[in-house]
Amino acid sequence: MDNNNKAYKSGFVTLIGRPNVGKSTLMNRLIGQKIAITSNKPQTTRNKIQTVLTLEEGQIVFLDTPGIHKAKNKLGDYMVGVAEKTLNEVDVVLWLVEPTDYIGAGERHILEKLAKVKTPVILVINKTDTVKKEEILKFIDVYRKEYEFAEIVPVSALKGNNTEELIHCIFKYLPYGEPFYDEDTITNQPMRQIVAELIREKALRLLEEEIPHGIAVCIDSMKEGGRVCHIDATIVCERESHKGIIIGRQGAMLKKIGSQARKEIEDMMETQVNLKLWVKVKKDWRDSDFLMKNFGYNPKEGKESE
Ligand code: GDP
Ligand code: MG
Repeated sequence: MDNNNKAYKSGFVTLIGRPNVGKSTLMNRLIGQKIAITSNKPQTTRNKIQTVLTLEEGQIVFLDTPGIHKAKNKLGDYMVGVAEKTLNEVDVVLWLVEPTDYIGAGERHILEKLAKVKTPVILVINKTDTVKKEEILKFIDVYRKEYEFAEIVPVSALKGNNTEELIHCIFKYLPYGEPFYDEDTITNQPMRQIVAELIREKALRLLEEEIPHGIAVCIDSMKEGGRVCHIDATIVCERESHKGIIIGRQGAMLKKIGSQARKEIEDMMETQVNLKLWVKVKKDWRDSDFLMKNFGYNPKEGKESE
């Protein structure tokens, strides 16, 4: 590698692919133990974490992209909208697929979305440890005919085969620039995000479809002291009426969200947790950079439209 005068690169990458294709395994492999802490959490949680990989040559920020599938409700529609937007706002899209020459309906749907995307797409054929080498070439060929991929990289996330090469390929498409995060924030970032995400997930699940425009959660403070971790978090919604629903009758809903989230945070952090939840109305929170980031969406350009 040429180290002389090498300029630093940094940029955003998103990883898409259907459930069980190996997204979490690949993230674990690329990031190492930084994300391993969430490895036994439900899929939805694991996939929504923004993770940062800092290397000598640059920094890769993996942005969370909600699933790209057919939406089942209004919130689902909104999330799919966010997902599609994200694809255009990152520097590289990684699309992870199974090692097969069968392109199913799910893959077709993603291909349709990608047709409108200008971002370079790297096709990652995972689980190559389960097939013969000759077959891999066949699969590459099948996919090559479907789309103009920037790169096609076969890997085994599980065995770590060719994952270095994947990182090398990603860097090819990142712009030169300063890192977005310094090392210090990286070490704190994941835990706060994981906690925020856990709370948000509990809330969304308990509220079902009553909050049509979704919510965001921000961690106001998180202090680990002695045997207890004190966390203050705010659930942000868009309307007074939503606030009422989130709080519930005599605070019942908020209590339920809090106690379910607390239990899970305690399991994850292996410590006692004192969780205080607040609810705030912030109109048009989707215009806010911070909250949109919290929602797993990079707000560099544009706003969500309704
Ligand atoms: P996700 O739903 O896309 O996040 O998929 P996971 O990372 O949870 O992986 C789903 C299953 O596939 C797990 O049992 C993994 O161990 C397995 N898996 C992931 N990557 C590989 C791989 O490269 N080779 C093999 N053989 N299995 C893999
Ligand atoms: Mg996963």
